[in-house]
Amino acid sequence: MSAHRVVVAGGGIGGLTAALSLGRRGFDVTVLERSSQFGEIGAGLQLAPNATRVLKSFGLLGDVLDVGVLPDRLVLADAATHEELTTVDVRRFDELFGGPYIVAHRGDVLAILLRACMAEPTIELLTGKAVVAVSEPDKGVVVAECSDGSTYAGNALVGADGLRSTVRTLVDRSEPICSGYVAYRGAVPTETVAARSGSRDVVAYIGHGLHFVQYPLRGGSFYNQVAVFRSERYRRGEAEWGTPDELDAAFAATSEKIRTALQAIDRSVNWPMYDRDPLPRWTHGRTVLLGDAAHPMLQYLAQGACQAIQDADCLGYSLADAVAAGRDVVDGFARYQQHRVGPASRTQRSARLWGDMWHSDGLVEILRNAYLRERDPDDLRHVAPFYALAETCSHSTQGRPSRAEPSPA
Ligand SMILES: Cc1cc2nc3c(=O)[nH]c(=O)nc-3n(C[C@H](O)[C@H](O)[C@H](O)COP(=O)(O)OP(=O)(O)OC[C@H]3O[C@@H](n4cnc5c(N)ncnc54)[C@H](O)[C@@H]3O)c2cc1C
Repeated sequence: MSAHRVVVAGGGIGGLTAALSLGRRGFDVTVLERSSQFGEIGAGLQLAPNATRVLKSFGLLGDVLDVGVLPDRLVLADAATHEELTTVDVRRFDELFGGPYIVAHRGDVLAILLRACMAEPTIELLTGKAVVAVSEPDKGVVVAECSDGSTYAGNALVGADGLRSTVRTLVDRSEPICSGYVAYRGAVPTETVAARSGSRDVVAYIGHGLHFVQYPLRGGSFYNQVAVFRSERYRRGEAEWGTPDELDAAFAATSEKIRTALQAIDRSVNWPMYDRDPLPRWTHGRTVLLGDAAHPMLQYLAQGACQAIQDADCLGYSLADAVAAGRDVVDGFARYQQHRVGPASRTQRSARLWGDMWHSDGLVEILRNAYLRERDPDDLRHVAPFYALAETCSHSTQGRPSRAEPSPA
């Protein structure tokens, strides 16, 4: 076994980006993916500058731009009246934050990462490998055991196995927290969406206990739609909740345009929304967590995958620097945690608040709308903390420092 072998459990966006970040820095990497093939669901993904900056540094931004769309604006609108409450012009984000705002099909992004990993002789990609246990049988060695009985040894192990991570149980045995909200989503051919918000905007229509997101994908030939609502049946403790009839009931008070657009959404599968409380520590011996395994968050800030990509970049340079200094590879965990736990935890907490703000009613809604209507579109204080280049993390990401003023979230 090479002295710098890393086993990655999970081949989603976080796991593959981690493999690339480590493999390109000279580590021998084995990715163990539970599914029979690497893949993502057929829906869109928003990639903010904190992620596109990393993809740029990996030389993958051009590939992502080829399959993605550069939106003009992020728009918050009222779900009943369509009144635009506030907008953020994202066209200057590359200049401001060192990376553009891109929307792309998840499958396309994963395929780009997969191709890049396959091009690295240092990276081994294995499917049908569900990690069921992790142990440290000998000094300096960590072993992943898979459900088929096979074992894979390394000097470090990365748990990138998502919300219901098996690896995380080494660090934390709590269950994910259910928000009582559920999402229906999917990317469909644009011509099948009778009611579109139009243009190149990412539009979120917000209302009481619900929101509806639309944006174009693949040069505008596809359209992504996400419908999210609070389930009354969940609140009443019913076992079956978030069903398509509840979706229609929840959106009954939204505009006709939204109700029409909803008809194009796939009702065969839904995603109950879970997160977890922030963890102060992501490591256990030679094992470290990354992405949703470390910090699953509600998706309202569209940051889960972006944070996973940032984790992967930071893990790569932290471990590489430890090795370059002649230290054990796992000595790099401390720096990784120091750089990433704070920002990711803040994003987890902010995503909950963001959802509460979007879904509010009564006095909070009145105050929210009054604030949003008055907001200067150039005031980026609410997004800068997530997108700006943190001084401490500037090691390998090539972005220019932000000219927007970051403030704590
Ligand atoms: C409705 C919705 C919209 C979202 N929109 C955005 C957005 O616009 N932008 C954004 O940045 N984020 C968004 N997110 C969040 C984003 O999808 C996640 O944060 C991101 O996918 C996490 O990546 P990951 O690789 O950490 O985990 P996952 O994507 O969950 O990948 C984990 C991988 O590990 C594998 N696995 C699981 N268990 C094992 C095991 N025991 N052994 C081996 N393999 C295993 C799984 O098969 C999977 O391939 C959204 C989420 C939702 C629900």
